[in-house]
Amino acid sequence: MTHLTDLTISDALDKLKNRDISSVELTQAHIDQIAKHDSQVQAYITVTAEKALEAAHAADTARAAGDDKPLLGIPLAMKDVLSTKGIQTTCGSQILKGYKPVFDATSVKRLYDAGMVMLGKVNMDEFAMGSSTENSGYFLTRNPWNLERVPGGSSGGSSAVVAARMAMGATGTDTGGSIRTPAAFCGLVGIKPSYGRVSRYGLVAFGSSLDQAGPMTRTVEDAARMLQVMAGYDPQDSTSMNVPVPDYLATLSGEVKSLKIGIPKEYFGAGMQPEVEKAVRDAIAWYEKAGAQLVEISLPHSEYSLSTYYIIACSEASANLARYDGIRFGARIDKGDVIETYKATRGAGFGAEVKRRIMLGTYALSAGYYDAWYGKAQAVRTLIKQDFEKAFEQVDVLMSAVVPTTAFKFGDNTEDPLQMYLADILTISVNLAGIPGMSIPCGFDNQHLPIGLQLLAPAFKEETLFRAAHAYEQAHDWHTRKPDLLQ
Ligand code: GLN
Repeated sequence: MTHLTDLTISDALDKLKNRDISSVELTQAHIDQIAKHDSQVQAYITVTAEKALEAAHAADTARAAGDDKPLLGIPLAMKDVLSTKGIQTTCGSQILKGYKPVFDATSVKRLYDAGMVMLGKVNMDEFAMGSSTENSGYFLTRNPWNLERVPGGSSGGSSAVVAARMAMGATGTDTGGSIRTPAAFCGLVGIKPSYGRVSRYGLVAFGSSLDQAGPMTRTVEDAARMLQVMAGYDPQDSTSMNVPVPDYLATLSGEVKSLKIGIPKEYFGAGMQPEVEKAVRDAIAWYEKAGAQLVEISLPHSEYSLSTYYIIACSEASANLARYDGIRFGARIDKGDVIETYKATRGAGFGAEVKRRIMLGTYALSAGYYDAWYGKAQAVRTLIKQDFEKAFEQVDVLMSAVVPTTAFKFGDNTEDPLQMYLADILTISVNLAGIPGMSIPCGFDNQHLPIGLQLLAPAFKEETLFRAAHAYEQAHDWHTRKPDLLQ
């Protein structure tokens, strides 16, 4: 018999509807899985087991009364950067230890309204700054495929819990790759929606013009189910777009014959792990065999994306993080005097990477340097966006690797921040352009570590990603494999 934690969200919903299982059983199975594996994987910062069982019980009662909400009774985990009413929300930072928001983020609220059972809050790089979750102010999270390796970041707790079957799906957030990179490193499906597709209300801001929340799951269909609920206009977020949300499940047709796929030549540069390049090229070849048309594309400003992103993201972060002063939220080191209290709280509360970025951002925004750095970066951002607009005049979707390598070992990139920043080379332009991007599993390297295929589409064309990804997934079995840890 399949273990309850091995079910996909879609399978579990069928079984719940048929009364083969109850949400209480399903939720208890996940709580047991957390008890069994989280001491090793270390992904949860907060487990809300009691609340989860209460919610599961309520879901079963509601279902018995005829309720059929889209995620009724499904146990999910939330990244600790999404505000959860009455439940500690740390953003992976000591400065927010003990902070309990008085409201739910819109994306979380919509998942609650759809019937989810919330299992708890998961680890991340502090304020979502990083690619490996090694910048967490709490602990390291391990990759369930290999405990000596990072789970990716910044949504590394999210990828680890879903890969280790400690949640059926999780929310992540992506400012420069933080959904797609951990999804790739842990063999999952992850989608960063178009900027403005999912409300940022209650998503604690890192780079306000870049951040988006999205789902991380084991299948494309499950991701479609979660995004369906999370997406849509929210008057509480002025950057949320008032455009209709298509029925994503209805777009999973298996049809790729008419699809035009662009292969950006700049995304296959030197430094790619050969097995990653091969797996990605094999996946693209599969699409061609299935009837899609391949077109070589150029994104000429790609080489500027990393520098542009780090100026813009750090500038926005330096402004956004000014509010953590020991007075309004979370931890406080009281020194009597207000300025000394600020200094002591921020000095001890923020980790090294966060401080580095506040300094970079403050510098880039300072009088006399603003035009040379921030102004210039914004101009280049427009060029990067236009590269994509031109590409999408010719093709429906772009494909590449998500990260040039598979999951690296702890410590491999922590000595040199620039080396860590390079992990984002293939994901970061997408956030600058505001378009949607997806990661799906497309193979394993010879160390048995997952490899991710990245699919990109024009703004508000998430359905194209779902359709293309689902067709590939149906013809492969990568998503059915399990880490040895769970055998
Ligand atoms: N790794 C990138 C950074 O450190 C992106 C992080 C993210 O998407 N939140 O900024």
